[in-house]
Amino acid sequence: MTVPPRLTEKVSAVNDEEELRRRGFIVGCILGEGSYAKVRAAVIKKGDSVGPKVALKIINKRKAPRDFLTKFMPRELKVLQKVNHPNVIKCFDIFSFGHKTFIVMEMAGHGDLLEYIKLRGALDENKSKSMFGQFVDAIDHLHNLNIVHRDLKCENLLLDVKNNIKVSDFGFARELSDNEFSKTFCGSAAYAAPEILQGIAYKGYSYDIWSMGVILYIMVCGSMPYDDSNIKKMIRYQTERKVSFSSSKKVSDSCKKLIHKILESDVNKRATISEIRNSPWLSPVFIDSPEKSNSNVSK
Ligand code: ADP
Ligand code: MG
Repeated sequence: MTVPPRLTEKVSAVNDEEELRRRGFIVGCILGEGSYAKVRAAVIKKGDSVGPKVALKIINKRKAPRDFLTKFMPRELKVLQKVNHPNVIKCFDIFSFGHKTFIVMEMAGHGDLLEYIKLRGALDENKSKSMFGQFVDAIDHLHNLNIVHRDLKCENLLLDVKNNIKVSDFGFARELSDNEFSKTFCGSAAYAAPEILQGIAYKGYSYDIWSMGVILYIMVCGSMPYDDSNIKKMIRYQTERKVSFSSSKKVSDSCKKLIHKILESDVNKRATISEIRNSPWLSPVFIDSPEKSNSNVSK
């Protein structure tokens, strides 16, 4: 007799929970769902005491296509084990059983940047500066490890309970040498640089930087810089430097200047991380807080 698929799923979920309990995890609510993964809240039990909350990303390998299993997932796991920065989601452990792989991660309990901005609208420039400063620090860390993210967007910038930025979702990340080009289209069109949208071999580092410019625009304007419903038109706007600030709230000239320098279609002229860090708009954050404090974005 063949067992109906819904029944097998239920049985396997019960078995998973039992096995996880055996390994010390008490699994709670679903925090989010990705393409082939569910992320659940969990606590680690040691004897009678309960440890801190963690996020458990559960990848169902049965549901995932071959290229994900052989290419993207191994890269994600490798990258997660290399990164170590206060503004990058920490990975505590990775293990597999059955047809699932489990990633034990630091919990980011305040949702993501998109939800944050949707709720509050554009952020004031001081808050944008402290959040963007943390984000720049995180990407600098990745790039120094020769890691490119390639899917930077507001949904992938999670927030901890103090609203500190935690870069997450390394599903498209990889290690890349400085001069290596990529061809795989990754990420979302709205955050993609013109060279990606045109299918030109691209440098992952410059792609990440472009996406950072889109994210900064969203922070200070509360809207998207380009309309991605017509990609041809979008590429024309990107290359003609038509990013406009007209319909949004007042943005300072120094911030506009920085956004224009990042959303530069010529890769060779596009701002570098150190130019962003040292820009008149952002540099005061690093001067005021040399230890790059992750303290109080939350205020
Ligand atoms: P995918 O690679 O499939 O997109 P993600 O890693 O982005 O999966 O996780 C899916 C969702 O789960 C996220 O959008 C987020 O809402 C939630 N999530 C992921 N990691 C964490 C975490 N460390 N803390 C809290 N929520 C998380
Ligand atoms: Mg995601």
